[in-house]
Amino acid sequence: MHCKLCLQEKELRNSHIYPEFFYKSESMYDEKHRFIQSNNPKFLLQKGIREKLLCHDCEQLLANTYESYGRKVLYGGEEIEILESPQGKFSYNLDYKKFKIFSLSLLWRASISTREMFDEFKLLSNAEEKLRNMILNGNAGETFNFPFYNYVVEEERFGFIMPPEKYKDNSHRIVRIIIGHFTWFFLISSHTEKFENKDILFKEDGILKVRKIKMSDTELIKQLNLELIQK
Ligand SMILES: [Zn+2]
Repeated sequence: MHCKLCLQEKELRNSHIYPEFFYKSESMYDEKHRFIQSNNPKFLLQKGIREKLLCHDCEQLLANTYESYGRKVLYGGEEIEILESPQGKFSYNLDYKKFKIFSLSLLWRASISTREMFDEFKLLSNAEEKLRNMILNGNAGETFNFPFYNYVVEEERFGFIMPPEKYKDNSHRIVRIIIGHFTWFFLISSHTEKFENKDILFKEDGILKVRKIKMSDTELIKQLNLELIQK
C-alpha cells in the first residue's frame, strides 16, 4: 500500500485522522478507550477515528514536528506569549510554520479520509495535492495559502468531533472543522487574499487571534440541543 503522504510503497499504520491527543485531552474516550461518534452514538470506535493512511516515518514526522507543538499550544506546555486580551479576543505569538502545518494536516487528513464522518467534505484533488506537498516538505506557505482563523469554546468540557462542514461566506468557500473546544475555519477559495476580514487570519508574523465564545450561545449548539430534545 502507498503512504498517502510520501506516496512510497510501505506498510501503513492505522493512523488517527485527528491526532489522538485530542481524544485524551477532551475526555472523548469512555473507560474502555472507545470514542462515541456524535453522528452515530451507537457505534463505538476503539481508540478513535482511524484509517490506514500513513507509513511509520510519516506518522513520526507529523507527530514529532507538528502535532507535539499543536498539542502544547492548545492544551498547555508551550510557553506562549499572550499579546493582548480584550474582551473575548486573545492574541498569541506562535511558531508560524509549526502551527500552520499542524492545522493544514488536520484539513488534509479530513479530506483524504474515506471514513464515513468525512464523506461530505472533500477538497479538489489539486488542493489536496498542494497540501500534501506543503506538509511533506515542511512548507507552511504564505498567509493566503489555505488561511484560517480559530474560535475557542470557553465551557469546561466539550468532548466531541463534528463532521467537517463546507459553507459560503460572501464569495468565499470555508470549511469548518470542530474538534473538542477548538474550531478551525479554513478558506479554500482561489481568491483568499480578497477575504474581507483579514485581521482575524493566522499570519506569517505568527500572531494568532482567537475568539473565545460560549458554545451554548452558538447556532450549532442550539441545533444540537434541539435534536437531542426531539429524540
Ligand atoms: Zn510515508
